[in-house]
Amino acid sequence: MSLKATYGSDKFALSFELFPPKTAQGTVALFAHLEQLVKFAPDFVTCTYGAGGSTQTKTLDIVEQVKRRFHVRVASHLTCVGSTTDELRQYLADASRRGVDDIVALRGDPPQGETEFIPPVGGLRYANELVTLIRDEFPRFGIVVGGYPEKHAEAPSFEVDLDNLRRKVDAGADVVVTQLFYDNADFLRFCERCVQVGIHVPVVPGILPVTNLSQVQRITSMCGARLPARLVTELQAHNDPVGQFQVGVEYAIRQVSELIQHGVPGIHFYVLNKSQATSWVLAATDLPRRGGGIRDG
Ligand code: FAD
Repeated sequence: MSLKATYGSDKFALSFELFPPKTAQGTVALFAHLEQLVKFAPDFVTCTYGAGGSTQTKTLDIVEQVKRRFHVRVASHLTCVGSTTDELRQYLADASRRGVDDIVALRGDPPQGETEFIPPVGGLRYANELVTLIRDEFPRFGIVVGGYPEKHAEAPSFEVDLDNLRRKVDAGADVVVTQLFYDNADFLRFCERCVQVGIHVPVVPGILPVTNLSQVQRITSMCGARLPARLVTELQAHNDPVGQFQVGVEYAIRQVSELIQHGVPGIHFYVLNKSQATSWVLAATDLPRRGGGIRDG
């Protein structure tokens, strides 16, 4: 089945995003958590590439292992940071050889310590160029691109950013997965504007259940997402880890349930290599009927 078909007309797709652990111990822990998460029968699992300075070479090792162990569709993220076009081609050829199904095609952030993205010599400037490269030379991959319900931090306006998102879709992206957000009104407005500017591929909300306040404050300040004041107040009212986890999970259950009521084509969970919060949210949520259903054991 193609990535497009995974989000077919009456389907709903569940996906999880991992990152490559830095240590062997971290990898063992990741697979133990994934063992729990696959019980919810994800339609695909993705792994980030170079995010926050993490190692790039491990991404393919992780997705290959995920596919082998859990027989699930896998996507490798890929950014234009620090690579020539030929190096990107080599990565894509390697990904294809190793059975990767889809690519999450991104420009990437400036390397740590730099404030501006400077395109590598002989490389690409924007994600739409990477989408074109993949479509032209590796047509068997499904392509996911990133979308920003609250606008990408560098874009001069929401409308300009939307125009740039349309370039990625026009270049051949199959699906848009959004940056994390905590106010569904932002996402719903974004979807409405996408349709108005001619973006007709599935737009999938990216959800990060909050498990503790300081962690989510760090993440949202890095990616430019807003934390609603009422959520911060609720979290601040609980000084203990268990209390904050419960507040975060309950918020995510409400957020996801409301999105499902609005008919979203799927949910993409930023699981951060852990299973507890996402499992709680999924166990408490009525996902639309879909092919897989819950797996046994
Ligand atoms: P682009 O779509 O290229 O946009 C970047 C900026 O340039 C925007 O402001 C846009 O408006 C503008 N722009 C785009 N195209 C054009 C154009 N043709 N002409 C002029 N301006 C243009 N980062 C990682 O390092 N590794 C990951 O694995 C990773 N995974 C992610 C997964 C998701 C779902 C998302 C939403 C983000 C992810 N990121 C990851 C973060 C991402 O790399 C950053 O947000 C980055 O700053 C922008 O990447 P992009 O692909 O959206 O860039």
